[in-house]
Amino acid sequence: MSLTNLTLKAAIDGLAAREFTSVELTRAHIDAIEAARGLNAYILETPDKAIDMAAKSDARRALGEAGPLEGAPLGVKDLFCTNGVRTTACSKILENFVPTYESTVTSQLWRDGAVMLGKLNLDQFAMGSSNETSYFGPVTNPWRAQGSTKALTPGGSSGGSAAAVAADLCLGATATDTGGSIRQPAAFTGTVGIKPTYGRCSRWGVVAFASSLDQAGPIAKTVEDAALLLTSMSGHDPKDSTSLDIPVPDFTQFVGKSVKGLKIGIPKEYRVDNMPAEIEKLWQDGIAWLKEAGCEIVDISLPHTKYALPAYYIVAPAEASSNLARYDGMRYGLREEGANLTEIYENTRASGFGDEVKRRILIGTYVLSAGYYDAYYLKALKVRRRIAEDFDNAWTKCDAILTPTAPSAAFGLGENSNDPIAMYLNDVFTVTTNLAGLPGLSLPAGLDANGLPLGLQIIGKPLDEATVFSVAGAVEKAAGFTAKAEKWW
Ligand code: GLN
Repeated sequence: MSLTNLTLKAAIDGLAAREFTSVELTRAHIDAIEAARGLNAYILETPDKAIDMAAKSDARRALGEAGPLEGAPLGVKDLFCTNGVRTTACSKILENFVPTYESTVTSQLWRDGAVMLGKLNLDQFAMGSSNETSYFGPVTNPWRAQGSTKALTPGGSSGGSAAAVAADLCLGATATDTGGSIRQPAAFTGTVGIKPTYGRCSRWGVVAFASSLDQAGPIAKTVEDAALLLTSMSGHDPKDSTSLDIPVPDFTQFVGKSVKGLKIGIPKEYRVDNMPAEIEKLWQDGIAWLKEAGCEIVDISLPHTKYALPAYYIVAPAEASSNLARYDGMRYGLREEGANLTEIYENTRASGFGDEVKRRILIGTYVLSAGYYDAYYLKALKVRRRIAEDFDNAWTKCDAILTPTAPSAAFGLGENSNDPIAMYLNDVFTVTTNLAGLPGLSLPAGLDANGLPLGLQIIGKPLDEATVFSVAGAVEKAAGFTAKAEKWW
């Protein structure tokens, strides 16, 4: 067994038992990363920093000062600002941006002893579902269909995070989720990802996409690993006024807890045309597993689900157009010269933003402009409210909700890139929880006929990640998903 195959939990236990050092564990990951450059998961490797952090971690352990993640090497989505380490959001406009501060979420991971391996690829400004909008090129999914060498997407926007975890290029990774960017890549790569309740994790130092929807969370190899990481990442931060000032439980305690007597809602609206029969089948398997574990299954209705995607693709671009106004060539990153100030703005933004980002800015400014604001933006906010109310009603009948994570398995690179609507449809089962602010977790639950992983999603009540982890633990145990991408890279 190589050190990179370990789960985060097993690695932490091995470090504690002095079976290996953090430097050894980190070195093994650095070697794996170098051998996997073809996947394009990391856009910046920080091996010297990693070894330095690992050596300091080993020294702390020798003094008996080990934190909960002591010595564990992790990857960081390149949307989290890292002090002195280039942070690009995978855009040209931030290509050479080196922050002078550390995001709260990553600083908490380092506080708890973790080691940074480098920065992970993503869709530009986290806008996308396939990692193909990255300025640094797409990530290739370590998974391939059986008997095929076709390159598949790892999903997006956290494609680098998901691919790195799936290919054992880190023990876990940070990610963000505005409409599904943690959960859909997790589903496409056979990994576990959780978007916590809005406000659980601080957004400070995370490059903003749509501030009322953005949440950080982990992508990990197991439900327990995700719980370990989320416990460290969560917590109140006075620097983010939307971060919640409430205690953070040790989420690992809920993994493995009995789910007997819990009511699990099955929303009848979570089916789409042309959804592969295998996904419906997997959903039924999930229902059967939870019944077996003592849950009561209840049919529920979330009637406004069909309006969620259109509402999301108004609210998210509207907020993005406002957030991205700060990239003007004056304050951060790229500056293209021009004859006057306006021309500098125009030239900088024209050359610094990719096509998908420009599309979002155009849609966003359109739906916010006089004459269209009421018809689009305000309407979308009203729909958002209805979607949240659907969930409020559901919680009178159930404790958690089970759905598929995405309407398909991983698709080929290039397959949907010319059709934004087809791409946006990936988010059909995930955007609802962002609009309602609820926690949602995706875990691998089976393979399709081509041998590609499929995910199930568990949605919880506000701030009830605990129940989400318990239910996920039960599904994980019953599914017995042990498949790994066969190494070809
Ligand atoms: N795919 C969605 C989008 O493009 C969600 C992205 C995200 O969650 N960051 O907006």
